[in-house]
Amino acid sequence: MRCLIVGSGLAGISLAAHLSARQVDVEVIASDQPSASGVSAGILNPTVLKRYTAAWNNTAFMDYALLFYRQLEVQLKATFIDPLPIHRIFSTPSEANEWTVATDHPSLAPYLEPSLQQAVLFPIHAPMGYGQVLNVGRLNIKSLIDHHTQFLGNKHRVAHFDYDQLNLSLERPEYQGVGYDHLFFCEGAQLKNNPWFGQLPLVGTKGEMLVIRCAELPQTAIWKGPVFIVPLGEGIFWVGASFDWEEKNNVPTDNGRFLLEKKLKQMLKVPYTLVDHLAGVRPTVIDRRPLLGTHSTHKRLHVFNGLGTRGGMMAPLLAQWMSRAVLDGAPLPNEVSIDRFA
Ligand SMILES: Cc1cc2nc3c(=O)[nH]c(=O)nc-3n(C[C@H](O)[C@H](O)[C@H](O)COP(=O)(O)OP(=O)(O)OC[C@H]3O[C@@H](n4cnc5c(N)ncnc54)[C@H](O)[C@@H]3O)c2cc1C
Repeated sequence: MRCLIVGSGLAGISLAAHLSARQVDVEVIASDQPSASGVSAGILNPTVLKRYTAAWNNTAFMDYALLFYRQLEVQLKATFIDPLPIHRIFSTPSEANEWTVATDHPSLAPYLEPSLQQAVLFPIHAPMGYGQVLNVGRLNIKSLIDHHTQFLGNKHRVAHFDYDQLNLSLERPEYQGVGYDHLFFCEGAQLKNNPWFGQLPLVGTKGEMLVIRCAELPQTAIWKGPVFIVPLGEGIFWVGASFDWEEKNNVPTDNGRFLLEKKLKQMLKVPYTLVDHLAGVRPTVIDRRPLLGTHSTHKRLHVFNGLGTRGGMMAPLLAQWMSRAVLDGAPLPNEVSIDRFA
C-alpha cells in the first residue's frame, strides 16, 4: 500500500511512523513555510495550570506519547524527550490552597506533587513559592523533525502540495503522475486552503514566542508564571507564548514582543539577551477537539488536524486512531471525528 502525507509537523510525523509500522509505503511532501511545530516549546503537559484541572483524556494521551517518542528515539537513534519538571509559580496564597485540593483529583494525582515548595529568592521571582508538576517533560521537536526527515530520505520532499495536480478521476488518486491508495492532509493551520477539508471549523490561534540567552538561570526545570520559560540547553530558553484569535499569520509583532518581555521581567531577576522572536498559528478548532476523518465523497482522502495547543502530547495516540480507522476500518471516537460537523 502506498500513501502520501501532506505536512511534516507533529501530525505528519506521528502518522508516518504509525503507517510505516504497518508496512505501508509512506511518502511525505511538506513546504518549508514556518509551522506551529517549528515554534512550539514542545512541553508535554497533561494538566491545565491556569485552573488546576486535567487536560482532556490526559493520562491516555500522555502515557501513549511517552511510549511512542521513546520508541522513536530507539528507531532514529536520537534523544527527543527531556524529562523536566514544570514549576508552577503561585501568585497568591489561595493558589497554593487550590493546588493542594487539586492534588487529590485522580487524573491530576500522577502529576501534581502535594508538597509545596518554599519561596524562591534567585533568579526567579516566586515569593509565594511554587508547586511541582512531575512525570512531564519537553519534546525536542526540532530534533525530531530533523531526524525524521533524514530517516525518510528520498521519501520526503520539500515542496508545496498543489491541489490542482491531484487527479481524483481514477480508482487510485494520482499526484504528479504517481498513484496513491490514500492521501492524508496534515497541514495544520493551512487547512483552510484545502479544497476538500477547508470548510471544517478550524479557528487558528496565533502565538508569539521569544528565544533568550540567560547564563544565570539553571536548565533543570520549566518555569510557569505569566509565561513559560523552557530550557533548550546551553543557556538558551524558550519564552512564551501569546494567544491571538484575530491574526492568522506567522509574523512576529513589536507589541507581541513587548508583552512577552513585560511578563518575562516579572519572573526573572537576572539579565538576559534576546536571541530570536517568532510566531506560528496553532491549529485550534471551534469545539477544542481534533479533526480526524475521511472525505464524504473521496474515500481515499483523509484529514488529520486540529491538534490545538497540545499537539505534542496528543499527536501520537490520535495517529494510532487515524491509522487504525483507515487500515482496519476501526471507528473513530465521535469527539475527534469530522462527522460531528456533517
Ligand atoms: C507559539 C506556540 C507554542 C506552542 N507550544 C506548545 C507546547 O509547548 N506543547 C504542545 O504540545 N504544543 C504546543 N503548541 C501547539 C503545537 O505546536 C501544535 O499542536 C502542533 O505543532 C500542530 O502540528 P501540525 O502537524 O498539525 O501542524 P504544523 O506543525 O503547523 O505542520 C503543518 C505542516 O503542513 C505543511 N503544509 C501545510 N500546507 C501544505 C501544502 N499545501 N503543501 C505542503 N505542505 C503543507 C507545513 O509545511 C507543515 O509541515 C504550540 C504552538 C505555538 C504556535
